Amino acid sequence: MSETWNNRTKLVHGGTRRSQYNEVSEAIFLTQGFVYDSAEQAEARFLETGPDEFIYARYGNPTVAMFEERIALLEGAEDAFATASGMAAVSGALTSLLKAGDHVVSAKALFGSCLYILENVLSRYGVEVTFVDGTDLDQWRAALRPDTKAVFFESMSNPTLEVIDIAAVAALAHEVGATVVVDNVFSTPVFSKAIAQGADVVVYSATKHIDGQGRVLGGVVLGSKDYIRGTLEPYMKHTGGSLSPFNAWTLLKGLETIDLRVRAQAQSALLIAQAFADHPALDRTIYPGLSTHAQHALVQSQLGGNGGTVLSLDIKGGKAAAFRFLNALTIPVISNNLGDAKSIATHPATTTHQRLPDDQKAALGITPGLVRFSVGLEDSADLIADLTQALAAAQG
Ligand SMILES: *Cc1c(COP(=O)(O)O)cnc(C)c1O
Repeated sequence: MSETWNNRTKLVHGGTRRSQYNEVSEAIFLTQGFVYDSAEQAEARFLETGPDEFIYARYGNPTVAMFEERIALLEGAEDAFATASGMAAVSGALTSLLKAGDHVVSAKALFGSCLYILENVLSRYGVEVTFVDGTDLDQWRAALRPDTKAVFFESMSNPTLEVIDIAAVAALAHEVGATVVVDNVFSTPVFSKAIAQGADVVVYSATKHIDGQGRVLGGVVLGSKDYIRGTLEPYMKHTGGSLSPFNAWTLLKGLETIDLRVRAQAQSALLIAQAFADHPALDRTIYPGLSTHAQHALVQSQLGGNGGTVLSLDIKGGKAAAFRFLNALTIPVISNNLGDAKSIATHPATTTHQRLPDDQKAALGITPGLVRFSVGLEDSADLIADLTQALAAAQG
């Protein structure tokens, strides 16, 4: 029944499990273990675990299970496994699937820690990774091989907001039998149709829009029942990256409001991007919802025209101008989360992507003047006024 609900209903009621007290709001089961009625019941539970039969919180917990079921309903995935952070989700999704001798093709525009997993970790265990420009289908075609076991990409890249064609990359990957793993954070679960478009595995950092209020770390991996229960769960439950019940509860409450929040933030992001599209203090205004975005047609078909909650502004005058801009802002905070109720400004070249050599930054479009701007829930007119005065200040 809950499968036929529309998203806003799924987000409020999906996955609810009530205790014997019939509470309205979901309970936090802060328990690491569960009591068995008898030695026989304990034995039976270790033999065959059903969905409601919990053994140990690293394997599963009622509050965590509510979160998993609710996000799986929203994404249209058969199943989900919640993780301690977005990176536990990314590393678990890939490592559980791969073994020495396998080949992976990955887009090269990646969140710093994702790049670390693909560049530094997998190679140590004998997995070969080929990096491609994710927007260039010819490069995907050329890199895929019969022994390619998985492809990995961020459907909207950080911080230059390139959009990768999920359906087209999935079609190529499936020709060689590779599993398509998509990090979908910037596209958001609200606008995603990634599973329907061909992704086999979808990964979120729940720290971002799912919490949306900057409180907890969390992550989730979504996919087929076979993959989640057969491949991912055994790996995650034995390696320890499970989500805490308290964080699961915070994220469950986040899901209740995510549709309202993300749509409001995306609407403000579009207004801000339009207001600064041709500003003389900017070299570029990057926002996937603008008709001038390089993959505008793909944003229409893949995301229903929704450009997400983040925009990037390339400020004329390089690092000094970008720093003057950041220091002049009065409403957005300088930090590095995104998807938060509070608008957040980030200077990728000196923070999130500091580690990259200059030529790699240049190749990824991470210029010294680039500022990533995660649009929060403040009034958009207030944000536009604040950005306007900060851009004036940037010009020194
Ligand atoms: C934040 C982020 C992650 C990592 O998530 P954590 O919850 O911080 O571990 C992975 N991928 C993308 C695209 C992100 O933005």
